[in-house]
Amino acid sequence: MQQTNDTIRLAADLQSDSIVDGPGLRTVIWTQGCGHHCKGCQNAQTWDFNGGGEVPIQMVLDAIDELEYQDGITFSGGDPMFQPEACNKIAKYCKDKGYNIWVYTGFTFEEIMEKAKTKPIYKEFLTNIDVLVDGRFILEQRNLNLLFRGSSNQRLIDMKKTLACGEIVLFDEYSYNEEEVFKRKPMFV
Ligand code: SF4
Repeated sequence: MQQTNDTIRLAADLQSDSIVDGPGLRTVIWTQGCGHHCKGCQNAQTWDFNGGGEVPIQMVLDAIDELEYQDGITFSGGDPMFQPEACNKIAKYCKDKGYNIWVYTGFTFEEIMEKAKTKPIYKEFLTNIDVLVDGRFILEQRNLNLLFRGSSNQRLIDMKKTLACGEIVLFDEYSYNEEEVFKRKPMFV
């Protein structure tokens, strides 16, 4: 489905205060539409490219302006990579506001880089992402002990380091530097 530059198709309202879609306190943007159809997908209602609702991007940006106490923004779905132009606009806006950006996709990083050869928007979107959680959900490789991902084939890719050095650098979900990730001092409670 062709997405206009000014709207994005979402599966649900923005969900703030998530602690399971990346580190810290995050707001999740649930995109609508996914063509991967992984066996065992928990969000099959988000597959339909005509489902959910098409909303102005500006409405999403306005909602982001209202957020409080959030460390990051996570794009999930559905698969945000089916709407790269719209998601990139929102990601760039959030990045400029200092948010840490995570994106969940069923495509592998290598598949996205292949797409980027003919559609540069994919590469641009990647430059506005801090961590890309890539790969389809594979039911046979499901592991409930994994942090921030469902199956062991999926990778948490540090996009800044990966794009800088030209080979995949993984984000360590168990020992990351909070000050470096969130650009703020750690909170002690
Ligand atoms: S990529 Fe994600 S949303 Fe799409 S079918 Fe697979 S698990 Fe479901």
